[in-house]
Amino acid sequence: MLLWFRNDLRTHDNPALHYVLSNVDTEKKSASAIFFISHKQWKKHHWSEIKIDFIVKHARNLVEELASLGISLSLIYADSFKDQISYIIDHVQQHAVNEVVANSEVEFNEQQRDQALLEQGVKLTLFEADVIVPKGKVLNKSGSMFKVFTPFKRAWLAHVQANGFSYLGKAQAIKRKAIKNLDLEHKVTSQPCKGVSKAWPVARIYEHQVFPAFIDKKLSLYGEQRDIPSIKGTSGISPYLAAGLISPRYVLRQLLNKYPDLLFSVDSPYFSWLNELIWREFYRHLLFDQPRLCKHQCFNLKYQSINWDNNAEYFEAWKQGRTGYPLIDAAMRQLSTLGWMHNRLRMVVASFLTKHLLIDWRWGEKYFMQHLIDGDLAANNGGWQWAASTGCDAQPYFRVFNPIRQSERFDPKGDFIRTYLPELKDIPDSQVHFPHQYIAKHTLNLYWPAIVEHKQAREKAMAFYQSRPHEY
Ligand SMILES: Cc1cc2nc3c(=O)[nH]c(=O)nc-3n(C[C@H](O)[C@H](O)[C@H](O)COP(=O)(O)OP(=O)(O)OC[C@H]3O[C@@H](n4cnc5c(N)ncnc54)[C@H](O)[C@@H]3O)c2cc1C
Repeated sequence: MLLWFRNDLRTHDNPALHYVLSNVDTEKKSASAIFFISHKQWKKHHWSEIKIDFIVKHARNLVEELASLGISLSLIYADSFKDQISYIIDHVQQHAVNEVVANSEVEFNEQQRDQALLEQGVKLTLFEADVIVPKGKVLNKSGSMFKVFTPFKRAWLAHVQANGFSYLGKAQAIKRKAIKNLDLEHKVTSQPCKGVSKAWPVARIYEHQVFPAFIDKKLSLYGEQRDIPSIKGTSGISPYLAAGLISPRYVLRQLLNKYPDLLFSVDSPYFSWLNELIWREFYRHLLFDQPRLCKHQCFNLKYQSINWDNNAEYFEAWKQGRTGYPLIDAAMRQLSTLGWMHNRLRMVVASFLTKHLLIDWRWGEKYFMQHLIDGDLAANNGGWQWAASTGCDAQPYFRVFNPIRQSERFDPKGDFIRTYLPELKDIPDSQVHFPHQYIAKHTLNLYWPAIVEHKQAREKAMAFYQSRPHEY
């Protein structure tokens, strides 16, 4: 039996790992595991350096952890999915492996790879470990996936209230007898990782220290603080969920341990965080239902062949944080510095790129993937299409965030802006959201001019989007 780790580098709530451990125990057979390091494939999917570094670091840590459970994990370099397929087929033949066990991945290319293996006669047993409620189980009365979040959420809650959800807990070691049979020859020695993701605690620390502290101390304030980028008011769990280092079912289990009535208390302050986890579920269920989203098609097909302006200079200014709108520029610097951006800012910069600059949301989607530590196709695609108004239950097209107003509301004193734009440290609070008049009056040469004027850009966006529905 071969255990194949993919987007699930964890020993808790890992159905594939549990299956292997229980079967090895009863059949008295040995178990080994593999994880592919596939730089070329990851780059093809635009994974960022920081995400890759984070994942490889955790794969190395898992070698040790699995050894203590009696499983030998080999890290295999395979450039592409094609190479992964060849490796598995050779390995199965050479070692007479009767079954390959893994947790499924929802993305299209990953599904194709698994299908190819099945077609070539590999016995591939797959489990589902990336969502709380299995995909395809939350459907409307006609048996289809919901197209609007709120009814999906109600049905999702009803499903969990009625059926509960599986949670497997921590894996237990194989009995001594089986350990002796293990082939440890491919074991890769764990090395300290000096990579770019070192500012992010490893999953073990996050799970045992950061997350419990978030639930204890911050959850009650989440509703109030979640939109303020200068405050650490959100959980910071996204890199761990996106890489499968922490299970979403583990997260819900912990929440329910602390707040047993949570599923029935939609008005409680704690629920607003669960609401976000349900958004995560919504976008994963949607990707499962609509694989074409993996090919970056607009969910709303009427926008599919829209002629975006795609001004390359504007795109460059947006990427570099040189738009002349401090909140946008500070947010883009947060992304390039941390490999992460606050949710409110993701919404504002995505709206700015697609509506103020009329640049294809796919350009922004790709750029985010190339820089985020938590890059996740389902959530990123969902977020971008929401902001661009091309998506499922998206912003209406006429809703264009005013970057100055957003700045005044969510960063009133400019604390966040000044963290990433120290150039503006001496500008008065009232002027920091759009400092151009102040700068001109005081003949300062601190900051670049705005690349577009908000009101004109908004009107242009209105006309642009309004012309669409009539063309199809
Ligand atoms: C344009 C855009 C792109 C995005 N790209 C990604 C991405 O690549 N990966 C990613 O994980 N999230 C993405 N999001 C969603 C959200 O911004 C991040 O999940 C959140 O900022 C992560 O910080 P946190 O863990 O502290 O969030 P918290 O506020 O603590 O939320 C907890 C968890 O809920 C989930 N969640 C929260 N908001 C959303 C949402 N809007 N959609 C789906 N799930 C959500 C995430 O798993 C998050 O970790 C994107 C949002 C937008 C608008």
